[in-house]
Amino acid sequence: MIKAVRGTRDLLPPDTALWNFVENKAREVFARYNYQEIRTPVFESTELFERGVGEETDIVSKEMFTWEDKARAASEKSLSLTLRPENTAGVVRAYIEHNLEKSGLLQKLYYLGPQFRRERPQKGRYRQFYQIGAEIIGPPSAGSELPIRDAEVLDMLVALLDAVGLTGWTLFLNSVGCSNCRPAYNQALREALAAVKDQMCADCRRRAETNPLRVLDCKVVEDQPIIEALPKIADYLDEPCREHFAQVKAMLDELGVPYQVNERMVRGLDYYTRTTFEFTHGELGAQSAVLGGGRFDGLSEELGGPRAPGIGFAIGEDRLVLALQAQQKKAESALQALIVPLGKEMNRHALKLAKELREAGVAVDVSDESFRLKKSFETAEKLGATYAVLVGENEMASGEFAVKNLESGEQTKVARAGLLKYLSADGI
Ligand code: ATP
Ligand code: MG
Repeated sequence: MIKAVRGTRDLLPPDTALWNFVENKAREVFARYNYQEIRTPVFESTELFERGVGEETDIVSKEMFTWEDKARAASEKSLSLTLRPENTAGVVRAYIEHNLEKSGLLQKLYYLGPQFRRERPQKGRYRQFYQIGAEIIGPPSAGSELPIRDAEVLDMLVALLDAVGLTGWTLFLNSVGCSNCRPAYNQALREALAAVKDQMCADCRRRAETNPLRVLDCKVVEDQPIIEALPKIADYLDEPCREHFAQVKAMLDELGVPYQVNERMVRGLDYYTRTTFEFTHGELGAQSAVLGGGRFDGLSEELGGPRAPGIGFAIGEDRLVLALQAQQKKAESALQALIVPLGKEMNRHALKLAKELREAGVAVDVSDESFRLKKSFETAEKLGATYAVLVGENEMASGEFAVKNLESGEQTKVARAGLLKYLSADGI
């Protein structure tokens, strides 16, 4: 049997309806904020990503799908091509190629589509995945550098997450400085790393020389205490970067956008300057970032274009859909427990326990003596309850109830006095 390639997947109904819902909402919100769509090719010359994203980044050093496109005629040259691992480099290339700066206005562009990275597939991490992203870019004379743009982008993201109904996210914010102040920070990092790098992973030992900032991206658990003790970028920002960041934060406060400053967050792409951000969601487990973004004031020049500062983001659509599905599942199962009387004599005790819990605000249901244990558990699961609480003679005598967690299958004994707390700890 021929199967979909590892790390790729089919999206089937009814899930595709949710994908369409998310995409439609995104388009609606983008229109409200005066963004228009751009579509760039799915593959580009490898050099675009090497220069744009940065050779020392994880993406370029190990995640790209690159191949040699052989010349087919004497007049053609062989080309190194790459499936796009992200879309900002492509958008900025298009901005330069089509002289979009000539209008003198800010370009507000959004895109939707597949991206490709050769990563170890796991939940929320695929080799073909989908991003919904947007960029504001333009000449400095159009105000492209100003903090108001950063705040507007973050405000739009909150509107977008609201529109699709995602709750419970956290926005992490940082400033990674600019080409003026970053060298001093890099130097400080390099010096600090010289003393400790031998205790770090092989990647970090290399990065300590080539691109010390990337050390902060390291996910190796043993390296984290060392990374914690490294110099902080906040102490190295120059005055204009400090002021820019202060203004972004002040505007977010004014708009009521909640954020947490995370000085360790430098993000995995070299083009970021000043503001960087990430939205995470608790339902996503290890792959907790729903979206990420930041400012890229030097990217256009890096790619041979005019000075064109900008800021943008990319939402991982796969992860957004996963988070929405997890949230939906939780909301549907407001029922905390099924109270299960073991035999006719236990009905009144079960009913009384249910009444106490209900009065305390916990949603529970009660079965009856006709239910065998197995049927009770099956019913509790079908009802979407998180727990089943057994009420039998032993339980009544000992005052301890057997409580089965239907998600994990675990069974524990909980004293009557602690039952309310135990059932409410999860979910509500
Ligand atoms: P991570 O730390 O999870 O690897 P990243 O920093 O590489 O993320 P970005 O390049 O900033 O991610 O991409 C923006 C968003 O795209 C991420 O926040 C995530 O939601 C999504 N994303 C990135 N890589 C993948 C992938 N392989 N599969 C699914 N979604 C992804
Ligand atoms: Mg990554």
